[in-house]
Amino acid sequence: MSLPSINIQNINEVYDLVGDAQVVGIDEAQFFSNDLIEVCTTLANSGKRVVVAGLDQDYKGVPFDPMPELMAIAEFVTKPLAICVVCGSPASRTQRKTASGDRVLIGASDSYEARCRQCHYIPGEQEDPALF
Ligand SMILES: [Zn+2]
Repeated sequence: MSLPSINIQNINEVYDLVGDAQVVGIDEAQFFSNDLIEVCTTLANSGKRVVVAGLDQDYKGVPFDPMPELMAIAEFVTKPLAICVVCGSPASRTQRKTASGDRVLIGASDSYEARCRQCHYIPGEQEDPALF
């Protein structure tokens, strides 16, 4: 199954695009401003089903706005986990493989890997537990 999608820079652009759609899907939600919370609330209150996907933590394991508030006001939350590339445990963290301190690295999908809480570390601040 595939569905058409549209890339947008500002979440408020959704209002001009949604038309009479019954379902609105928003991916990579962690990259949008906190305006996403009001947009999702407005769409849901108007009777549309809003499905949001995104990372709930940044590369340091810190809650990634606006995801925490969205998860709190959502009717349903599913938190799928990956498999830790080091030990095979359920992985809730995104391990950055470079030392950049920027919260977002655009176009750097190969600079990350899934890790569990015990195997995750912050590059430049902590040692990689996989090396010990
Ligand atoms: Zn692990």
